[in-house]
Amino acid sequence: MQIAVVGTGYVGLVLGACLAETGNSVACVDKDLSKVTTLRAGKMPIFEPGLEEMVKRSVAEERLAFTTDLPTAVQAAQIVFIAVGTPQGEDGSADLQHVLAVARAVGQALKRYTVIVDKSTVPVGTARKVHAAIAKETTQPFSVVSNPEFLKQGAAVDDFMKPDRVVVGVDPGDDRAAALMRELYAPFTRTGAPIMMMDTASAELSKYAANSILATRISFMNEVANVCELVGADVDHVRRAIGSDRRIGTSFLFPGVGYGGSCFPKDVKAMLKFSKDEGYGFRILGAVEAVNDSQKLRLGEKMRAHFGTLKGKTIALWGLAFKPRTDDMREAPAIVIVDQLLAQGAAVRAYDPEATETARGIFGDRVTLCQRSYDALIGADALAVVTEWNNFREPDFKKMRELMKSPVIFDGRNIYAPEQLRALGFTYYSMGRPTASLD
Ligand code: NAD
Repeated sequence: MQIAVVGTGYVGLVLGACLAETGNSVACVDKDLSKVTTLRAGKMPIFEPGLEEMVKRSVAEERLAFTTDLPTAVQAAQIVFIAVGTPQGEDGSADLQHVLAVARAVGQALKRYTVIVDKSTVPVGTARKVHAAIAKETTQPFSVVSNPEFLKQGAAVDDFMKPDRVVVGVDPGDDRAAALMRELYAPFTRTGAPIMMMDTASAELSKYAANSILATRISFMNEVANVCELVGADVDHVRRAIGSDRRIGTSFLFPGVGYGGSCFPKDVKAMLKFSKDEGYGFRILGAVEAVNDSQKLRLGEKMRAHFGTLKGKTIALWGLAFKPRTDDMREAPAIVIVDQLLAQGAAVRAYDPEATETARGIFGDRVTLCQRSYDALIGADALAVVTEWNNFREPDFKKMRELMKSPVIFDGRNIYAPEQLRALGFTYYSMGRPTASLD
């Protein structure tokens, strides 16, 4: 099939590359010329495992191209995806300006029947708005479909190629659009993953409900961990005990330093806002958000309690990206933690395997960004583990002790075993588990 993807960010690029991988001819459109130029030069603007090889393969076979020319891409396409950002507006709602701008431009370009697919995360009712924006610009026939994306950054290619399910919202009776979407997704659902056809409102809401329940689990477990610390319980035991109940399941039960990223924070806010606009106060989500805000400060509070004051201390930070296997720092807890430490007079030396350049843009010279993990430890009064990259899991603890001024670790991701760290002479704080120390 001929496909155009408008918006070549995390979602659009993965979508375009994966659709090209199954033999479709894909034009990825972006208004950002520098991004298009980078991609044309064979370089990736983002880090995502497996993506680069896939992009290079399809570009070489001329199934995938990058352009700023939206009309030409749209006119060649049977299906046009809108995969632009829907950032948080000032009042918490999803800002639809980019989605609607693309809808208008697509409307102006249409020359024949085309299916326009909302891939961006958008509030209920957006499919209707997109339909109206296109209809204002054209007399050509078209369908608007809602197809929310559930991929996870860090495993985006895998998630897209092997989805748990594909959600497709179409207008009742729009068999033509439904058939095209089924055909497009058939290669990705061979293993039995269902294509769930529904109305557009349900599809749009499904995405927000999914992210909201995941954010709720995170905040819930963070609160369980905080209670564990007060009552002397170990959240690892509690997590395993509850996770083995099949009604609960084992995923998303890990406490940490709060959720971040480009999706959970903004999607929770947007769901709160559009529920409120409809006269419904979504009380649980208000609490989920408040818990998350305070959880981001918790590691810094533990440091302050340990040292008395952070003034003049040097803190090493391992991990800046909002989660492992990505260079994305949008709404990353690390940003809040660094600000908190600097405000209290500490110096920060930080290392991340992929997010160093992103971090440079955020922190400038306020933070010493190190090229190697151990460099961050030189002269540090403590190490804070903020993102659970795999290469932090089995470090050379002896070397760490030698480099650090004092052997203290604040582990925001519970990646080490407290008893082991105690035996190695570290004072070790983690989340929801007893502190390990030789004293
Ligand atoms: P992004 O910011 O990485 O990419 C958006 C791209 O759209 C940018 O390259 C931008 O230049 C481009 N763009 C904006 N306006 C344009 C226009 N008028 N014409 C052409 N290009 C335009 O965003 P993202 O992370 O890929 O997210 C896109 C959408 O997908 C959002 O709604 C997001 O909530 C949703 N989503 C994201 C993820 C994720 O993990 N990042 C997962 C699922 C859903």
